[in-house]
Amino acid sequence: MDKQQEFVLRTLEERDIRFVRLWFTDVLGFLKSVAVAPAELEQAFEEGIGFDGSAIQGFARVHESDMIAKPAPSTFQILPWRAEAPGTARMFCDILMPDGSPSFADPRYVLKRMLARASDLGFTFYIHPEIEFFLLKERPVDGSRPVPADSSGYFDHTPQHVGMDFRRQAITMLESMGISVEFSHHEGAPGQQEIDLRYADALTTADNIMTFRLVVKQVALEQGLNATFMPKPFSEYPGSGMHSHLSLFEGDRNAFHETGAEYQLSKVGRSFIAGLLRHAGEICAVTNQWVNSYKRIWGGAERPAGQGGEAPSYICWGHNNRSALIRVPMYKPGKTASTRVEVRSLDSGANPYLAYAMLLASGLKGVQEGYDLPPGAEDDVWALTDGERRALGIRPLPQNLGEAIDLMEHSELVAETLGEHVFDFFLRNKKQEWEEYRSQVTPFELMKNLPVL
Ligand code: GLU
Ligand code: MG
Ligand code: MG
Repeated sequence: MDKQQEFVLRTLEERDIRFVRLWFTDVLGFLKSVAVAPAELEQAFEEGIGFDGSAIQGFARVHESDMIAKPAPSTFQILPWRAEAPGTARMFCDILMPDGSPSFADPRYVLKRMLARASDLGFTFYIHPEIEFFLLKERPVDGSRPVPADSSGYFDHTPQHVGMDFRRQAITMLESMGISVEFSHHEGAPGQQEIDLRYADALTTADNIMTFRLVVKQVALEQGLNATFMPKPFSEYPGSGMHSHLSLFEGDRNAFHETGAEYQLSKVGRSFIAGLLRHAGEICAVTNQWVNSYKRIWGGAERPAGQGGEAPSYICWGHNNRSALIRVPMYKPGKTASTRVEVRSLDSGANPYLAYAMLLASGLKGVQEGYDLPPGAEDDVWALTDGERRALGIRPLPQNLGEAIDLMEHSELVAETLGEHVFDFFLRNKKQEWEEYRSQVTPFELMKNLPVL
């Protein structure tokens, strides 16, 4: 048994932990959990815990359903909302096949495999996510309109304490689980919040996002509220993005940084952005995976300044341009060069493991093949005409899930990065969602057509 495993077993005893939850994530990005008794853990570290993979979205078909969850001791944390003794703890798991080989269906493995490729090239991949979500009074399940928990707006600091109390408690809980929070504030829409996590390596960030979603939902429930990461719950308000700031490091050197270059951006940084741009369309079904995701990035024409309706619709990059898909934020001198790239398409309903694997694959492809960075767009690209955008070579992101699926289906990059199993399942599942959506007669049609036709 190694040191980390020993530490876990010792902590269980010292802290009177009776339940250990083994966590993993299905292909669509939902958290799964199986609880084991501490007495089983030594064996779980050695061999893993068996479960029926065919019951998990995207994992296995019935005839090959035996799978194994093997906990990673470095991810051990006590769950703070179960603080009273006897306590509960969690660990993230790697999913294995009965012969002990990694399961190709495990999204965490998809990301790990991509990170290993980056590491072969000498790179580590860091991410700082800005996570937006809504606090609702209720979460109706019958399709009726949800009610936001408050009526404040961007950066508002009002005596209406709902969001503030909420953020304080959520952040305290996250910090007690080793997840550092950098910023938090009220976002543009009523009930909308944002919490930004400190940057960490991509695998840790993806794990942190899974924990974050659960903590946020948990704290909301404790306060008599409901939290949702749905990309666009209201037609008239901005949606919830998960802007992610990316950087590549070579050892402790920021590979995106070059002193004196334009925006302090190195050649690696420039071709990484070029890769993100060139492949943005084909990876969109992964970064924006729901029918509803496209209501956010095509969320209508009114985007009043300062109200944060700033989700990107066009494939371009800019320096301080919030209408662009990719933004190179202002450089802050400091101990470590802060040069980084903010991707703004990603939404809060994405599977972080798969989405980050695809962003890394796109950027690295640009680096490896030396893609040239097209000129940046410093205009508000929404204000341009279609013709002006065409003349500038600015293409739109897919306008709906159907278009995104078409692009993904023909993408070698996505097939290769996700691996055949996840690629096939994902496409099948998303086609089904799109077909189901297309067959709906919506309130919009009833309202528009029924009175007049
Ligand atoms: N809520 C916006 C989005 O959907 C982002 C607002 C902001 O710039 O933080 O991407
Ligand atoms: Mg924001
Ligand atoms: Mg941002």
